[in-house]
Amino acid sequence: MKCAVDIEARDVEEMYINIDPIQAGGRLTADAMKAAISFGDGYSVCDNCRNPPRLDYIKNPPIAQFHADLAGWLNMDTARVVPGARRGFQAVASTYVEKGDPVIVTALAHYTEFMAVEAAGGIPLEIPKDTANHITPDAAAEKIEAVIREFSRAPPLLFIDHVDYQFGNVHDVAGIAKVAHQYDIPVLVGAYTVGIMPVDGKALGADFVVGSGHKSMAAPAPSGVLATTAEHAGRVFRTTQAKGDVTGRTFGLKEVEMMGCTLMGVTVVGMMASFPHVRERVQHWETEVAHSQAVVDALLSIEGTKVLSDSPRQHTLTRIDTRESFDAVAQQHKKRGFFLSGELKKRGITGVIPGSTRVWKFNTFGLTEKQIRHVGEAFVGVARDNGLNII
Ligand SMILES: *Cc1c(COP(=O)(O)O)cnc(C)c1O
Repeated sequence: MKCAVDIEARDVEEMYINIDPIQAGGRLTADAMKAAISFGDGYSVCDNCRNPPRLDYIKNPPIAQFHADLAGWLNMDTARVVPGARRGFQAVASTYVEKGDPVIVTALAHYTEFMAVEAAGGIPLEIPKDTANHITPDAAAEKIEAVIREFSRAPPLLFIDHVDYQFGNVHDVAGIAKVAHQYDIPVLVGAYTVGIMPVDGKALGADFVVGSGHKSMAAPAPSGVLATTAEHAGRVFRTTQAKGDVTGRTFGLKEVEMMGCTLMGVTVVGMMASFPHVRERVQHWETEVAHSQAVVDALLSIEGTKVLSDSPRQHTLTRIDTRESFDAVAQQHKKRGFFLSGELKKRGITGVIPGSTRVWKFNTFGLTEKQIRHVGEAFVGVARDNGLNII
């Protein structure tokens, strides 16, 4: 089946159980698919844009209400939709970071945090991780002290990921925010938790909460959310002061960091259509974690396999080391490392990078009980068929 002459229809989600590390939370709900068809046209949400002419004031579809709901749901004061978590990082960095400023990130930070700091002219400096792959409040304090000694001023911003993308470990954000606030450093909390597990921005001590719509809110790309406190909203969401020198034109309430308006069609309406489902699904986080653990347990029953993420699991994203199990098979196999993804595919599972049998990641988010059992049994079955011991 084709979408157009040379574009094949994508059927990954229809044909397979997909355990790709970054795709699980972004699968559209049926409601989002309907919204995507209905609001596919470019500026489709602008039919009823009145005064002031700005995305977050539009009442039909209920985009204004959605903004209020997003802020409330994250227990923050103000929210805006943005084209991806990275654009949320960028808006904040561009507001708070001046050329040459040191900015605190972490040894597990996503590359887009580095890009946001770089674009603003800042210097990213990492809090190291400890031997358990955690970012701790003590390490944050040490880094902040070292940076202040070197730069003779406090960093204007600290980025911390609630859950990092490498291990899927949950970090002590509240503890780290408390430390940062002792130095009056605003804290931006990202990104792999909003829409996946419950997030209470105030409880975390976040000055900014950033989430990804297409990674974790069952929304089309590029979409995301930037939420903040009343204290910071006026600054990051400041309105334009620009004036045309020839025409004298001014631009009212357009927000500079939002470039006026952000998501103008399928992205925002898709996000909105999925939102009731997303709000509901985070309530079942414990089930998701139990499912994740069930697949990890199956993998650990294969002799030689190690889990590199926190154990027991506290998230659905897991980093696994199969150098002494599946990779040992790959050394002898005529398909080399491709045997694993190939065997999984035969069993209806996709999302493990073809060829990887050493250290790799997977995500079980959103799978049913039955699918979880099948994935666990598939891994064990592939191992047994290839002569590995099951313990
Ligand atoms: C996925 C991810 C991002 C990027 O999100 P986008 O919405 O694609 O910009 C940023 N930070 C972290 C921690 C992530 O896991």
